[in-house]
Amino acid sequence: MRQSQLFTKTRKTAPKDEVSKNAQLLIRAGFIHKEMAGVYAYLPLGLRVLEKVKQIVREEMNAIAGQELIMTALQRKELWEKTDRWNDEVVDVWFKSELKAGGEVGFGWSHEEPIGEMMKNFLSSYKDLPVSVYQFQTKLRNELRAKSGVMRGREFVMKDMYSFAADEASHLAYYESTKAAYMNVFRRLGIGDDTFVTFAAGGAFTKFSHEFQTICDAGEDVTYIDRAKGIAINEEVMNGETLERLGAVREDFEKVSTAEVGNIFNFGQQKAEDLGLRIKNSDGQDMPVWMGSYGIGVTRLIGVLVEKFADEKGIVWPRAVAPFTVHLVSITGGNPDVAAEADRVYSLLSESGIEVLYDDRDLRAGEKFSDSDLIGIPKRVIISEKTMAQGGAEVADRATGAAAFVPDSGIIESLVG
Ligand code: ATP
Ligand code: MG
Repeated sequence: MRQSQLFTKTRKTAPKDEVSKNAQLLIRAGFIHKEMAGVYAYLPLGLRVLEKVKQIVREEMNAIAGQELIMTALQRKELWEKTDRWNDEVVDVWFKSELKAGGEVGFGWSHEEPIGEMMKNFLSSYKDLPVSVYQFQTKLRNELRAKSGVMRGREFVMKDMYSFAADEASHLAYYESTKAAYMNVFRRLGIGDDTFVTFAAGGAFTKFSHEFQTICDAGEDVTYIDRAKGIAINEEVMNGETLERLGAVREDFEKVSTAEVGNIFNFGQQKAEDLGLRIKNSDGQDMPVWMGSYGIGVTRLIGVLVEKFADEKGIVWPRAVAPFTVHLVSITGGNPDVAAEADRVYSLLSESGIEVLYDDRDLRAGEKFSDSDLIGIPKRVIISEKTMAQGGAEVADRATGAAAFVPDSGIIESLVG
């Protein structure tokens, strides 16, 4: 893509009311637009990142037999009343509205109830199980505080998955397999070493739920980590009883700020019992199915990546989710031959299947470089009179700042792998 065609422009400052580093940088670089507190639009650059994060999550969910679908954002009141979760005292993030034709609807903040209900149409016997379904949904939550940029939206993208099993053993095996799949996602995003499966409150069937907490100064959670044993405990459940259950001792834990990037719940048979989602088991007996739910904060992850990897110059994207792999920057100084050479390299890279943002704008070198630093594309290829005279390009790495001259014949090789 030619940067001269990109309608978004970088800006020197973020809106005054934006206090989070992630949203400030994402807005300044043109990835997102702030509609209001906690509500952000994804512009062309931001959408590319969002889609790449989704694709990584999708591949890992497909690998554990997840089937993708998409539920509705408008939800029925009656359904949530069955589980007493329509109640604002129980769920404090509902957005609700009234139908002109009469009756109330809710805006989906989660989808266990509608998915469980929908599944009644398809599940009648143990032979229909196991099943796992997932979606990427825009969740709407009336969060009280939305000061963490895209890390806490009132409108945000979540991947939520729901599993249905006929017996406890296959249910538990699936629950365990999601932990591994989640860690694959976080490893591919470059935060595997800083993300911990964490014992947390909110277990319905078991004592704990499991959160995936990533070390991040901007995170809203506090987690205790025992690196040697690989145990992490959310502050909410850090107490004598928990330590005893896990065979751990307080002194071994380090206290860190973290962001919850995912959360998985084992409902046992309780959720299906509440919803009336029942099947016939192998003995012909009627029973509620075993259910689990599994969330990943897709847009929160984008914020975490910005917070963790950005430097004083701007965003530094991990390659796996960068909007483009290469930022090709021409420094023509008004020389049309340099522009023609940069055009040639642009075609060469594009034809090799490399995703390139080509800064073909007629601007000073300093401006182009600072924009490039802000946008954070992993590799920069610079074409100038100097590099042309030498028969190649300068190739620089955004994360390390390392730069080197590369002869024309070696450019592609220097960018792949
Ligand atoms: P939190 O404690 O941060 O409010 P939660 O327990 O409400 O999270 P879940 O309902 O389990 O979160 O949602 C699954 C995942 O969605 C979370 O692990 C988190 O990564 C993400 N998430 C939750 N709320 C938000 C939000 N307001 N903005 C962005 N992502 C969110
Ligand atoms: Mg919440």
